[in-house]
Amino acid sequence: MKYKKTAIIFGVTGQDGAYLSHFLLQKGYKVIGTTRNKSSTNLFRLKKLNVIKKIILLKGVATDLKFCKKILSSKINEIYYLAGDSSVIKSFETPDISLKSNTEGILNILQILKFKRFKARLFNAGSGQFYGNNKKNFYNINSKIEPQSPYGVSKAAAYWLIKIYREKYNIYCCTGILFNHESPLRSKEFVTKKIVDTALKIKRKKRVKLKLGNVDIYRDWGWAPDYIKAIWLMLQRTKPKDFIIGSGKTHSLNEFVNEVFRYLNISKKNLKTNVSKYKRKIDLKGYKANIKETQKILKWKPSLKFKTIIHKMINNELF
Ligand code: NDP
Repeated sequence: MKYKKTAIIFGVTGQDGAYLSHFLLQKGYKVIGTTRNKSSTNLFRLKKLNVIKKIILLKGVATDLKFCKKILSSKINEIYYLAGDSSVIKSFETPDISLKSNTEGILNILQILKFKRFKARLFNAGSGQFYGNNKKNFYNINSKIEPQSPYGVSKAAAYWLIKIYREKYNIYCCTGILFNHESPLRSKEFVTKKIVDTALKIKRKKRVKLKLGNVDIYRDWGWAPDYIKAIWLMLQRTKPKDFIIGSGKTHSLNEFVNEVFRYLNISKKNLKTNVSKYKRKIDLKGYKANIKETQKILKWKPSLKFKTIIHKMINNELF
């Protein structure tokens, strides 16, 4: 079979990795993906999108330099670094794991690109979580980086490494500063998926209450497959450049919960907020991405609105 290009996705089993592999296969790519764990429960997203048999799955991690050296060669055209601990909450419990997985992995790849000097293009998954709480909670590519969590620190470090290697060694590498993006493939440990899953249990008359911490926080929520397209577009440019990828809109967690309960027609009696166990000690009050530049240069725009994303997450479980 003749492929257009070969791509390697670190973290292929995650939400974004699964959607990206599906997207690249449709574009005629040969797709190689890495995972730490080939057990079938970990591969559910790849199965759901029916890509599992169409990609080459390798067991290993980017923090293992030997593994990276073995799999990265001049045959690879594009490298997508989506692996690593993606949870802000977990990063307070295991900051070492966040730092290692989000930063050391990208450093290993950069070092290989520097020494082997082949022309693969590298995408790094950054996060809006590395911005501080600025007054307007509105961020563009020049906003001050002031992480509020070990996760934010790990993403900031990787972002700066990418910038340094791009400028100093002329490597084609860039960071997409991603704001929250959701889908039915979102991991259960994230609050949006927890809300949808628990609300569905309530609907099915299971006796559960949805318990949440502070719902008066604001986030910029987008649709994951849209972000995959933006990520890919970033690597198709002649020159590498970092971009902010978000919806450009902001909504509170309260709005998210309200819409889920309204859509499913369930009573708010089953909801308890401000539960101290779920309150974060340090949290960003809110944030919104300024995507003007991204829209203009990448000719990209988010396709789904906030409520439609919620409905899709629910419908996926219902039908
Ligand atoms: P997921 O958590 O769904 O997937 C990340 C993948 O990385 C996992 O499937 C896992 O694969 C691998 N991984 C997890 N922990 C480690 C670790 N300690 N060491 C090595 N590999 C690990 O994340 P998403 O797909 O949602 O996100 C992709 C990237 O985008 C991440 O870097 C995330 O931080 C970033 N991002 C995501 C946002 C979002 O809203 N989704 C927002 C901002 C940034 P396996 O278990 O198979 O090894």
